[in-house]
Amino acid sequence: MAIGTMLSAFRKNSITSRITPFRSLSTLVLAEHEGGSIKTSSLSAVEAAKSLGEDNSISLLLAGSGHSLKEAAEHAASSHPSVSQVTPVSQVLIADSDKFTYPLAEPWAKLVHLVQQSSGYSHIIAASGSFGKNILPRAAALLDISPITDITKISGSNLFIRPIYAGNALSTVRYTGSSPCMLSIRATSFPVASEPADLKSNAASIDQVDLSTLDEDDAVGKSAYVKLSSQISERPDLGNARIVVTGGRGVKSAENFKMIDKLAEKIGAAVGATRAAVDAGFVPNDLQVGQTGKIVAPELYMAFGVSGAIQHIAGMRDSKVIVAVNKDADAPIFQVADYGLVGDLFDIIPELLEKLPEKK
Ligand SMILES: Cc1cc2nc3c(=O)[nH]c(=O)nc-3n(C[C@H](O)[C@H](O)[C@H](O)COP(=O)(O)OP(=O)(O)OC[C@H]3O[C@@H](n4cnc5c(N)ncnc54)[C@H](O)[C@@H]3O)c2cc1C
Repeated sequence: MAIGTMLSAFRKNSITSRITPFRSLSTLVLAEHEGGSIKTSSLSAVEAAKSLGEDNSISLLLAGSGHSLKEAAEHAASSHPSVSQVTPVSQVLIADSDKFTYPLAEPWAKLVHLVQQSSGYSHIIAASGSFGKNILPRAAALLDISPITDITKISGSNLFIRPIYAGNALSTVRYTGSSPCMLSIRATSFPVASEPADLKSNAASIDQVDLSTLDEDDAVGKSAYVKLSSQISERPDLGNARIVVTGGRGVKSAENFKMIDKLAEKIGAAVGATRAAVDAGFVPNDLQVGQTGKIVAPELYMAFGVSGAIQHIAGMRDSKVIVAVNKDADAPIFQVADYGLVGDLFDIIPELLEKLPEKK
């Protein structure tokens, strides 16, 4: 849809700050966007919202400014069920202001508060990445509610499952409050089947949030955006990759880690690392997998020189197939591995590189 057509699709009545009574089953999904597209983790949040109930009416909240916000709104609106069964969004709410150019917690939390006060959603959901973890607690405090975090399964509109003790036990939580239920979900537990393809088909409505009552003084100044440092890579994103190749302290140096890179390159995988490998300076910390790193659940997880500490397992145990190479036959990683090879990674990786066919 052209931007002009999309703008004409905006409803005349924008959202205002009147207090609306609590609605039955309706969900506000806080969505992150980049380069004019909704991030996969936010689509997973929509996927999670679907499991709350069939009659759930889902609104997606996008904020930012300029062209990329409009493109993202268009992308979200095109995810209507007639286009894709993946994302049955019925409404896209956009907050267009320079305040939201960067996802800072203060203005975003104010925005969530404003939208909730005016529309009375029964549920508020975000993916449990740095975006959601930044915004939800502050928004929860403003709304005086207690969020339920890191949900891996939704068994009804008020029954949720979340891991505890670094993933060693699952806790079932029943929400009994009368205030809105605020949730963060693990994106890897609600995979998105496919991206919406046809951006020209029937769109959900796109409504502008009326920001005139957003409190200026409170919303700004508590934190400031400094810069975004990201590596440009043709590799898949670690959080969503189908294959992850991880190196641990056993790889021994940053120089040796290039072997892991080479293997990942050859099989189209993302590279991961343990905290010990990150702390030793082999790779940057955005590659860390685990309790205090990224949570991944690829189809294939390959671990080289990784002992399998509980904090590492917490971040990769949901992988479909786990392959571990370690020279210590008693390494705990073998307890979760589907295929384990006791051997020296400095022999095995070169052999793998030699035997694997070149990537087409
Ligand atoms: C609060 C907290 C949070 C944490 N969060 C995380 C987290 O998010 N992610 C994380 O990964 N860790 C985390 N940790 C650290 C965690 O406890 C472990 O210290 C870390 O995972 C160990 O990393 P490693 O397996 O690379 O190193 P090690 O435990 O030192 O294991 C190295 C392994 O390499 C093997 N090896 C050595 N040489 C070779 C060779 N040539 N060939 C084959 N195998 C070889 C060894 O047998 C050994 O098993 C956390 C710890 C704490 C306390």
